[in-house]
Amino acid sequence: MSAATEESRIYREPADYIEVESALGAHNYKPLDVVLTRGEGVWVWDTEGKRYLDCLAAYSAVNQGHCHPRIRDALIEQSAKLTLTSRAFRNDQLALFYEEVCDLTGSHKVLPMNSGAEAVESAVKAVRKWGYEVRGVPKDQAEIIVCRNNFHGRTLGIVGFSTDPDARRGFGPFAPGFKVVPFGDAEALEEAFTPNTVAVLAEPIQGEAGVIIPPPGYLTRMRELCTQHGATLILDEIQTGLGRTGTLLAEEHEGIEADVTLIGKALSGGFYPVSAVLSNSEVLGVLQPGEHGSTFGGNPLACAVARAALGVLVDEGMIENAAELGPYFETSLRQALGDRVAEVRGRGLMIAVQLHGDAGGARPYCEALKQRGLLCKETHVDTIRLAPPLVITRDEIDWAVEQVAAVL
Ligand SMILES: *Cc1c(COP(=O)(O)O)cnc(C)c1O
Repeated sequence: MSAATEESRIYREPADYIEVESALGAHNYKPLDVVLTRGEGVWVWDTEGKRYLDCLAAYSAVNQGHCHPRIRDALIEQSAKLTLTSRAFRNDQLALFYEEVCDLTGSHKVLPMNSGAEAVESAVKAVRKWGYEVRGVPKDQAEIIVCRNNFHGRTLGIVGFSTDPDARRGFGPFAPGFKVVPFGDAEALEEAFTPNTVAVLAEPIQGEAGVIIPPPGYLTRMRELCTQHGATLILDEIQTGLGRTGTLLAEEHEGIEADVTLIGKALSGGFYPVSAVLSNSEVLGVLQPGEHGSTFGGNPLACAVARAALGVLVDEGMIENAAELGPYFETSLRQALGDRVAEVRGRGLMIAVQLHGDAGGARPYCEALKQRGLLCKETHVDTIRLAPPLVITRDEIDWAVEQVAAVL
């Protein structure tokens, strides 16, 4: 590297970062123009030293707050010992991770992966195989019921059963075997079952669709129908899980248990991609050596980080904090905004402010909030999602409400 190049890498104006990103990177995101360089708890700082309250928390991957010291220490310590063995050999961290996840969630089997999308793909594979081997579904006839406006990730298999035109357009042909029903409609769900239905895959609360909470009793009915038809209930808790909604898993709000639960995102507290398929049935038992895998899945560094991430979530009362302060945030927003917005809804610290149809979309408000030091992101056109790290305090919520009220 020449001295001049070296020099130019020491300090850059935010506009320079944006220009380079724009020139060299694929444009598959449209980020707010803020260049962040540091984070601690609920706060992040840009390259100019300006501080922001992070109300997105990396789509709930940073539930534990930015750069949590205990997770960081686990990462540093493990990274000096052993980071990757592949699953060709055993490592001394994997069993400890399995134990901790099973103890916490009551699951019996774990399949460790990396990204959320991989966990979803893995569950789809396992449940199809289970359908053929255990349920006796005729070859290649397995059906999985999914919900309209779902978001389960970006891989080819998954976008094939998305209903979002942007996620699908231009990427076909897609894999068959998925049936889409409207989310929240128990009757439509009931009608969609056939003898070949091996699973229902759903988010307990649809996150990317705009924090859509199904009517009370819907998940309970989904559970009953799956049991009745001998189908596996797969709940994608990659966003709703690990404390976000005020319980460890969102399924607890209806007192149900999925057969297969998918977790990711906050499983690493934002340090590292870690996801897992959790199963309390025989579904994961159908996978034999060689049939599925991942070079990085279950690596010792991921296991150490995930254990620390789960540990702080529980030990530091973050789930309880979400349960207590979520409703406070929601009520404060409702009181402050009144009929300036169409609706404020949420569960725990997963909150959406739904704008009126003629408000001109959520993006300009997110830009204005950025100016005032609050970071959030529109979901779809006219919803502002507010989902800060679960370590947020009452004072910080009061401040956030003031900012939102000011821009709306
Ligand atoms: C984010 C998300 C995924 C995908 O996770 P990645 O790590 O981005 O692949 C899947 N399902 C839900 C509900 C999510 O919110």
